[in-house]
Amino acid sequence: MAAHTVYKEPAPLLDRENPLESMMSRFNIAAEILGLDDETYNVLKAPDKQVIVNLPVTMDNGKLRVFEGYRVIHNTILGPSKGGIRYDKHVHLDEVKALAAWMTWKCAVVDIPYGGAKGGIICDPTTMSAGELERLTRAYTLALKDVFGPDRDIPAPDMGTGPREMAWLMDEFSKTSGATSPAVVTGKPLVMGGSLGRTEATGRGVMVSTLAALAKLGLEPTAVSAAVQGFGNVGSWAAKLLFDKGLKIKGVSDISGAYWNNNGINIDDAIAYKNAHNGRLEGFSGADFMNPDDLLTSDVDVLVPAAVEDVITEHNAGNIKAKLIVEGANGPTSASADPIINEKGIMVVPDILANSGGVTVSYFEWVQNRQGFKWTEEMVTERADRIMSDAFEKVYKTSQKYKIPMRIAAYVVSIDKVAQTYRFRGGF
Ligand code: GLU
Repeated sequence: MAAHTVYKEPAPLLDRENPLESMMSRFNIAAEILGLDDETYNVLKAPDKQVIVNLPVTMDNGKLRVFEGYRVIHNTILGPSKGGIRYDKHVHLDEVKALAAWMTWKCAVVDIPYGGAKGGIICDPTTMSAGELERLTRAYTLALKDVFGPDRDIPAPDMGTGPREMAWLMDEFSKTSGATSPAVVTGKPLVMGGSLGRTEATGRGVMVSTLAALAKLGLEPTAVSAAVQGFGNVGSWAAKLLFDKGLKIKGVSDISGAYWNNNGINIDDAIAYKNAHNGRLEGFSGADFMNPDDLLTSDVDVLVPAAVEDVITEHNAGNIKAKLIVEGANGPTSASADPIINEKGIMVVPDILANSGGVTVSYFEWVQNRQGFKWTEEMVTERADRIMSDAFEKVYKTSQKYKIPMRIAAYVVSIDKVAQTYRFRGGF
């Protein structure tokens, strides 16, 4: 008989702050500023739906392992729910709930017709073969076939997943539903209905919002230095596009450590090195090795956390030297760090605004799939850039109007849109 891994409670949140609490504390402040009514507050504070699935997968050694997966639909008042799927050994239901809510606020802030959702599977994709990952992705899709759908809930990549997993998901969903259904998922490979510009979209949005923020601060991009934490899809594209705009990227980091060059790192070289070395910067000679903990407090003008949640906390926020933080990751700043950052007068372009370029181009991908008409790369970037700069302006104006930080202003813009829609749709 094959050995079984028994059902496990979700892994502990380690020593991270609870991202759900971080999200809620900002939501509460914004709700108070808006004077949000109790009814809408109570509807929005909890997800619409939380699904936990048990996923049996035959591993390459012939043994059966059962993985635990989640899909949380936070809200669908603005449209079908949208959000990525994360494969990571630290995935936790509270984290997925926070990430799902952030998707609701993110889609609302850029004014695209989606609600918010997020999915995750507790697994370590770095130790799994392509075959195991394919079987896991198909099992997850099958388990959630009644949740997913082009008009219901549309997944996308997140940490640990990419076009390959999205292709398997699209294929499995299409087979079970009996119709080829490209619009059920975004972030697909280009040849099967993916959008031009989707891969770099999140990093590009980070670049556009960085430039918009620098203009407000009266800083010239070519006179500015930056550090980027995380060199995966978001971090490497953000670093590359900021480098192309003339910013001096003095520090970057990935799972292998941090790398520093006071004269600026050639990001094209760093990306070429990473691509040739299993996706890692380890051994990169264009910079000196640095303790990764020091990167966030290094002497730069702009800090781009583009890795995981809760890296800027009450413990290191006081030592941050940057004038501007642009959040490529979801939830990189814990709520306990907010007052310290605000006190220091650091401008923050918050995650739900700064990294919304990804879901914006996901929306374009879905529109193209439904239109059956492929847009040119120029159409994609021109429209995405405009959406990002309009959203930035709206949040900036809201922050001026209420004299509040950009983070809370972004929540105010989003919650206001959702609350207004509830008032029009009614039905409670
Ligand atoms: N996972 C990405 C995010 O957190 C993209 C979501 C999507 O494109 O639906 O924004």
